Amino acid sequence: MTSHQPPLIACVPVLKDNYAWLIIEPSDGSAVVVDPSESAPVIHAADALDVHLSAIWNTHHHHDHVGGNAGLCERYGPIPVHGSAIDGELGRIPKQSVFHRDGDVVRLSGQEVLVLHVPGHTLGHLAYYVAGMLFIGDTLFGAGCGRLFEGTPEEMFSSLSRLREIPDDTLIYCAHEYTLANLKFACTILPDNEALKARLSATTSLMQPQGGAPLARTVPLTLREEKQTNLFLRWDAPDVMRATGETDPVRVFAALRRRKDRF
Ligand SMILES: [Zn+2]
Repeated sequence: MTSHQPPLIACVPVLKDNYAWLIIEPSDGSAVVVDPSESAPVIHAADALDVHLSAIWNTHHHHDHVGGNAGLCERYGPIPVHGSAIDGELGRIPKQSVFHRDGDVVRLSGQEVLVLHVPGHTLGHLAYYVAGMLFIGDTLFGAGCGRLFEGTPEEMFSSLSRLREIPDDTLIYCAHEYTLANLKFACTILPDNEALKARLSATTSLMQPQGGAPLARTVPLTLREEKQTNLFLRWDAPDVMRATGETDPVRVFAALRRRKDRF
């Protein structure tokens, strides 16, 4: 961090339950967008905030993360489109022009952004880590984690293990509002866990429709709360091991993921 004003974050709800994120540089009114599913809502949000898009950061190639790339490049010109080198080799991110590997550093005005390769949901999945914020796409969700579409349990476990090493006060910006559904699942695994019950009850109240008001959201999440209540980060907790009947951390994780897939 420098003495420089920190970036501002704006949420752009897209599609049914996706979030794109605008990272706004206050000094010059530029903004990076993370995972634009669609271009129109992002352009609308950028216009309303009077910011100009300077780059696109994609966490992975799924259409609900890159569907807006082409439209945004049309509107803002040939802005850099960041993504994984693995997705780049497969040519599956539209307009991609920057090809990342684990440990790459991207400049965001005065700050360094660390690019992490976190495979599991997909082979090339990336996370962008900057100044206490982690843009994580579909790797970690509120009380859950992404499905293993291309990776193995070992790969996802190793990605989540890296995330667990990141400081507790980090804010997690994921790409879907799945927290309530994930908590309902978690409470079937650990029905007597007080912290989970309290989180489910608080989230249920928060997400209650309020006559015409826009739906509340649970994101950003804090990594502290995820470490405490997200089962997919608690593979070594005695209650989780007991509930899965496993003791090996990867097997605990894999058992939870299988049960969630069938939930
Ligand atoms: Zn995805």
